[in-house]
Amino acid sequence: MAFARPKIPGLLKGMGVTLKTLGRTVTKGADTVQYPHEKEAPPVRSRGVIALREDNCTVCMLCARQCPDWCIYIEGHKTLAPPRRAGGQPRSVSLLDRFDIDYALCMYCGICVEVCPFDALFWSPEYEYSEPRIADLLHDKDKLGEWMETVPEAPELEAGAQKK
Ligand code: SF4
Ligand code: SF4
Repeated sequence: MAFARPKIPGLLKGMGVTLKTLGRTVTKGADTVQYPHEKEAPPVRSRGVIALREDNCTVCMLCARQCPDWCIYIEGHKTLAPPRRAGGQPRSVSLLDRFDIDYALCMYCGICVEVCPFDALFWSPEYEYSEPRIADLLHDKDKLGEWMETVPEAPELEAGAQKK
């Protein structure tokens, strides 16, 4: 069986990349950090964990239906709320009983955050929530609500942009 001989220009090019990277590492230091002894501050728009603003959720189920991994579990019930105006009919409203995201299944696509019509889901750059037990990666609505504290303020609109 004949083996193809390596091409010298390709080898030299590869060695050049190796030496260049080695030189940069020696002069500027490695691009990696020794986690968990050192921690990087991720950019504010990083997809770390999803936070839930429960008050905004109308139990419309859009996020759960659009999630490609089927890892959002929602349960709710209907109840009657007082009418908006005096003399009006009581309103039927949905209340959230359960809202879980299973981070063992989530692929961080962001579709749920994008499709929510009521601004109830937000990305937080927080990433330190690994667990020894995979079952503990199921975050319930209380836990998802706590992540709201880590959601950064929305950036200022660019000049000329209009609010929706
Ligand atoms: S980020 Fe994607 S996979 Fe994760 S819960 Fe949202 S829609 Fe599902
Ligand atoms: S899409 Fe938004 S409002 Fe609808 S169930 Fe999901 S989080 Fe709640």
